Amino acid sequence: MTKQRVLSGMQPSGLLHLGNLMGALDNWRKLQDQYECYYFIADWHALTTNYADTSNIRAHSREMVIDWLAAGLDPERSVLFQQSLVPEHAVLHVLLSMSTPLPWLERVPTYKEKMDQIQDREMNTYGFLGYPVLQAADILIYKAHFVPVGIDQLPHLELTREICRRFNQLYGEVFPEPQPLMTEYPKLPGTDGRKMSKSYNNAVFLSDSAQEVDAKLSRMMTDPRRVRRTDPGDPNDCPAFNLHRIYCTPDEIEYVSQGCRSAGIGCLDCKKIMIKHVIADLEPIHARRAALAQRPDEVAATLERGNQEARAVAATTMSEVRAAMGLE
Ligand code: SF4
Repeated sequence: MTKQRVLSGMQPSGLLHLGNLMGALDNWRKLQDQYECYYFIADWHALTTNYADTSNIRAHSREMVIDWLAAGLDPERSVLFQQSLVPEHAVLHVLLSMSTPLPWLERVPTYKEKMDQIQDREMNTYGFLGYPVLQAADILIYKAHFVPVGIDQLPHLELTREICRRFNQLYGEVFPEPQPLMTEYPKLPGTDGRKMSKSYNNAVFLSDSAQEVDAKLSRMMTDPRRVRRTDPGDPNDCPAFNLHRIYCTPDEIEYVSQGCRSAGIGCLDCKKIMIKHVIADLEPIHARRAALAQRPDEVAATLERGNQEARAVAATTMSEVRAAMGLE
């Protein structure tokens, strides 16, 4: 039986961290068992906010593929490719943009939010406003049945579905309407308690050694009530405890919770219980990553195989699109 197709992408913004692993990669790896997966480096999307400084995009893309492979994405089962090396994405983007009403783009919630957030760059660009159309092209060109999304990305996918319906109404049924594959991601705070992010300098990277992981997590923020060893705390107010919840056994969680509330355990001892699990979990990824980093040509060849596969599928779809629009 033919498997249904899943598509997802990630912007190349640097080394991947535990938040990326828990929030996306673990899910992507599991989806490979059930679906035909297309995963892409969204390097053109990175330009929508970083168009003025493109110096890191190539290096970040290379690092990201190494992280993907190390985390268990399997090029024998998934098509791993780079958006900018499949130019058909841009062609479909142009054609879809012709029939996408401007107000559809202006009402995307993240458009205004990001405009307000990013103050250090000129964001009033056509590319930034139009990136949901590019996203629609990314999805529709592979006729993806499903797109893994969290609740906050639902409006984007809904816009893709609207663009898809409009195209099909105007020119005939070319694209299936992609459905959301809702995914609940565990919340993963960084070492300072804020969301884990490279830009906050609070991340544990997949490339970190066991010593680095230990050092970073040993310093991780805890319940501020525990100023002295004898002060009781509450695990629910402790950022580090979010990692205990993910990594520790039920018995360990119970032991730690009681010890925290009764001041029976110190924060460092408590964190060490969790840290040993994080290190054990990351160890095989770290080892694979180190081996792959020694074989850049092999990694590049893997990506090029994916690019070729993606180009073949994209070219077939574009031929159908041109025929439907009477452009051939
Ligand atoms: S004892 Fe553990 S759960 Fe409690 S505040 Fe310290 S690190 Fe957090």
